[in-house]
Amino acid sequence: VVARQAAALDVRAYVIGGFVRDLILKRPSKDIDIVCIGSGIDLAEAVGRELKVPVVVFKNFGTAMLPSGREPDVVTEESKPVPAGPTLGWEVEFVGARKESYRSESRKPIVEDGTLEDDQNRRDFTINAMGISLNENDFGQLLDPFGGLEDLRRKTIRTPLSPAITFSDDPLRMMRAIRFATQLGFDIEPDTFDAIVEMKDRLAIVSRERITDELNKIILSPKPSYGFKLLYHAGLLDFIFPELLLLKGVETIEGKGHKDNFYHTLQVLDNVSERSDDLWLRWAALLHDIAKPATKRFDPKVGWTFHGHEDLGAKQVPGIFRQMKLPLNEKMRFVKKLVRLHLRPIALVKEQITDSALRRLLIEAGDDLEALMNLCRADITSKNYDRVKKHLAN
Ligand code: ATP
Repeated sequence: VVARQAAALDVRAYVIGGFVRDLILKRPSKDIDIVCIGSGIDLAEAVGRELKVPVVVFKNFGTAMLPSGREPDVVTEESKPVPAGPTLGWEVEFVGARKESYRSESRKPIVEDGTLEDDQNRRDFTINAMGISLNENDFGQLLDPFGGLEDLRRKTIRTPLSPAITFSDDPLRMMRAIRFATQLGFDIEPDTFDAIVEMKDRLAIVSRERITDELNKIILSPKPSYGFKLLYHAGLLDFIFPELLLLKGVETIEGKGHKDNFYHTLQVLDNVSERSDDLWLRWAALLHDIAKPATKRFDPKVGWTFHGHEDLGAKQVPGIFRQMKLPLNEKMRFVKKLVRLHLRPIALVKEQITDSALRRLLIEAGDDLEALMNLCRADITSKNYDRVKKHLAN
């Protein structure tokens, strides 16, 4: 349909970016980006008319989209409203090809109309800069000026132009590099990684919402610990999540050491992630030991203690959510409760944790945390899960 309407309007159109990457990787994809040499809005409206679906136009940006009708994973103040009416189930975004130039103090570029090459030049990574032609003369042809296909094969994240310029122009791309590496299980090419280390302070000009958006995608990846290790080695963790970095390191007194709570937390995060895709459960795992540095004491008789760290950790959750611009709603209270219970309820559900099962259990337990904790301590298996539920209901 897009190809037909583009031909009727006499504009050239290409599928570009993440959809092309995911198509080659055989990864499911939720959005399709179309770039055309001409007005993206006119093309979107023509496609919307033919498919009989609504079109949302962003006049100021010169873009338009056919909305998917899906709720976003995490609703923030910047989330677009979900329109009523028929939708495609996919979000299709249309934009005219553009050329961008940047000033040093802002992420907002100066935008001009451009060619397909200009548009590919402004992309963040080689694997995100590939296009597929929707035009009659070369329909289906891959347009890959920076070797993105080869980088997919080599499992490498690399910037199309000089990494220092790419990251200086838009420092959010440093987070995106680590996010894509974590989601795809790729390496970051050494020059690209070195540039992140060098430019890390530039992240300060990026809004916290966007940083957290990328962080959440790292947390939702198959093995989130990899992303946190990359953030640590790049020197970005200090800026975006200093409380987590405080967990790092082992102190030894009189020959007695404690475990490194940073790596321990990442291990727990991976373990929980193997069993659940729920973002908030994963956040609880990440925060479950967060108050250990503040409660750490050395007792010559018993060694290291962290008395009361669960309660203090739960108290720190709202502050961390506020700082990260995460929603201060029932999701936060769920995380707080799990931190206070030190994730023990997770032991209740031995198989894949459907978040609803756990949530139900916590809601049923209400404020009778004592009872829930005692039950959890007994390391209840799924076999007597029903009995536990009944007990909690009573
Ligand atoms: P996902 O949908 O999983 O987030 P994606 O690659 O589709 O992956 P988007 O953020 O939707 O990511 O961006 C779509 C495309 O737009 C990217 O593939 C990339 O080509 C380009 N892009 C997005 N953000 C940037 C950026 N900050 N700098 C340069 N190019 C970007």
